[in-house]
Amino acid sequence: MTARVLRAGAATLLFAFAALSIQPDALGSHAAAAEGNTVTVDGRDVTVHVRVDVNVADEVLQSEIGRTAFLGWQDKINDYWNQGLRQLQYDGCLTLHVDVQMAVISVDDWKYRSATEDYLKMTTQPGHHVISFDLNPSRPVVFDPYQPDAGPGMDFTSPFKYDLDGNWSDELETARDFAHETGHLMGLGDDYQDVPADGGTRSESLPGREGTLMDSGDAIDQNIADRLGDTIRKAGIKLPTCWTGTMTSSANETVTADNVGLVCSGTWTTALSLTIAGDGTVTGTAVATVDGPPACQRGHGANPQMEVFRAPVTGSATDTELRFRLGTPSSYEPAGSADFTALTATIYGADPSGATFTVPITSPGHAQGEQSLRFVVGANSFTSDNTLDLTCKHC
Ligand SMILES: [Zn+2]
Repeated sequence: MTARVLRAGAATLLFAFAALSIQPDALGSHAAAAEGNTVTVDGRDVTVHVRVDVNVADEVLQSEIGRTAFLGWQDKINDYWNQGLRQLQYDGCLTLHVDVQMAVISVDDWKYRSATEDYLKMTTQPGHHVISFDLNPSRPVVFDPYQPDAGPGMDFTSPFKYDLDGNWSDELETARDFAHETGHLMGLGDDYQDVPADGGTRSESLPGREGTLMDSGDAIDQNIADRLGDTIRKAGIKLPTCWTGTMTSSANETVTADNVGLVCSGTWTTALSLTIAGDGTVTGTAVATVDGPPACQRGHGANPQMEVFRAPVTGSATDTELRFRLGTPSSYEPAGSADFTALTATIYGADPSGATFTVPITSPGHAQGEQSLRFVVGANSFTSDNTLDLTCKHC
């Protein structure tokens, strides 16, 4: 049975049905409390909370087995989305998660309220979408009277601003099918469209979208993750920003004979990936690669000299600058290597009081600067001259 579905276009039809069947006192005013999905942020993790109240048949509602079985779709939908999304990053630093909270309700638990001038929607409480589950096979649909022109291939922010309603049916047979419909409740449009064929219509994948979850397939791909994140932002919800870029470093150190005795120099290219939370807190990672072997007067013994190191990044940001420092390296490559030159210290800062990089934001979404680190104790010195360049797509 096909699981292809339609998300919009039938609002007028439902209104006609609603106008016939409602009682006048069922008409409420617009809900004042916040409607729509909510989004929470924990570090680099962004979670969309989708509350769905599903009006099921009495025989399902009154049977514990039936109720439990239906509510089992909740975890399956969440697993489906989260297994796909956890392999992807949005904006280069964020991981998106889905938290569907499903409840089963009876026909007595919801009422019609006016959504727009010409649309009545099923409602329960603010922040909950309402779906009527039809045991007869029919095309599942989410109605969006707020952005009625959003057709196939067009995402819509309404589910983050308003509670929507719609119909699901026995055509939904698998976790994939339920996950697809939940995609509409997160503002994702279909990756297919209906085209005329043989006096009727047939479904046709949009270019490049064959086999995706929002088509008739399984794939939660980068495009879907990007669209979900973009839709959240377009709905006016602030997400952490992601800055990526590079730092090139020319590093020198001199350590006197009393302290090993070493003169060394090398250049590094460091890939930076920073996340800036709403309060300006900076977290991230740095992956520094030495450009060729460091030039040192002293051998490295049997173990290989470290060529790549990874370090955590912490700091704070304002509207005008990024401030951060690299922490102690957390891993070295190749395996078994060590930093015999101690050159890493010239970048992450041998200075125990901290070596902070301050990078001016020179234009929206672009931070650029040069900075030298100098840590000198007597005749020993660790220094680096660094050029930094970072960009942020959504700043
Ligand atoms: Zn659909």
